[in-house]
Amino acid sequence: RAKELGRKRYVVFDETLAKGMVDVLAMEGELRQALQHDQFQPHFQPICRLGDGRIVGYEALIRWNHPQHGLLKPCEFLKVAEDSGLIEAIDWRMFELSCSLLSRHGVKDTFMTFNVSALHLRHPNFDARLIRMVEAIGLPPSRLVAEVTEGALLDDPEIVRATLDRLREVGVGAALDDFGTGYSSLSYLHSLPLRMLKIDKAFVHELDKAGNTNSTTVVAAILALAHALNIQVIAEGIETQAQRDALMAMGCEMGQGYLLGHPAPIEYWLEPHSQTA
Ligand code: C2E
Ligand code: MG
Ligand code: MG
Ligand code: MG
Repeated sequence: RAKELGRKRYVVFDETLAKGMVDVLAMEGELRQALQHDQFQPHFQPICRLGDGRIVGYEALIRWNHPQHGLLKPCEFLKVAEDSGLIEAIDWRMFELSCSLLSRHGVKDTFMTFNVSALHLRHPNFDARLIRMVEAIGLPPSRLVAEVTEGALLDDPEIVRATLDRLREVGVGAALDDFGTGYSSLSYLHSLPLRMLKIDKAFVHELDKAGNTNSTTVVAAILALAHALNIQVIAEGIETQAQRDALMAMGCEMGQGYLLGHPAPIEYWLEPHSQTA
């Protein structure tokens, strides 16, 4: 218990804590309240075909509508949610909300990716619960793609692979997120049932800088490998037309980023927007 408190005290001084919140224990309480009072809201960021800008999917990203502090981003509270174990309940709420919104608003012919925390994937009933929820909402499972990070895979590769296999059997896809930032990526890539891979924005941001030969080489290698393994590629964090052009020239099919569209509530995407031209 003392050790646990020690850990929490450490987080007190973490800059990832939302402005105005000074105490991790207080924030845990507020996160519980947020669950009870429905203060979490998914925002949707479009994933576009790079060639013509057409929206082919959305990533659901959590936002916390805090009664005093306004709309909070994940960097302001996710660490506390993870350390306290509340992340599981929060992820389920997000998943249910995002699926319902997608289903209710009938955003047609698009897939939706959702983020799964590493803790979660290792849970023995994760896939069964997810499948039940998708069935209850009535969304075709093939429209869903779980985003997992390399960290999750490293912790428990066998369990994660089995879980992703079972999800694939019912049609739910998996995407490896932030690709290139973790470790030993290449060695396990071929053995995982992945539908997609997301190139981390750090590489994308380098593409239009002078002397970027290293990131260009890395991105080209990732694309070649993914395509050889029949994995679709999404480039994250595209902010300039030059980055988009470079990615297209290398054969990257899909992208996401402020150039193509910011995360926004689903209503925003129900009408065609010039932002995604
Ligand atoms: P991620 O999955 O890699 O999501 C992409 C992040 O990049 C999002 O940040 C998005 O808003 C941001 N982004 C999009 N386009 C651009 C761009 O052009 N430039 C830059 N600089 N950034 C861009 P966000 O929404 O703050 O989310 C941060 C991270 O929080 C996500 O990274 C994901 O790992 C995590 N996260 C988000 N929602 C959830 C959730 O519901 N559950 C869990 N467990 N994690 C979540
Ligand atoms: Mg993600
Ligand atoms: Mg992502
Ligand atoms: Mg990412």
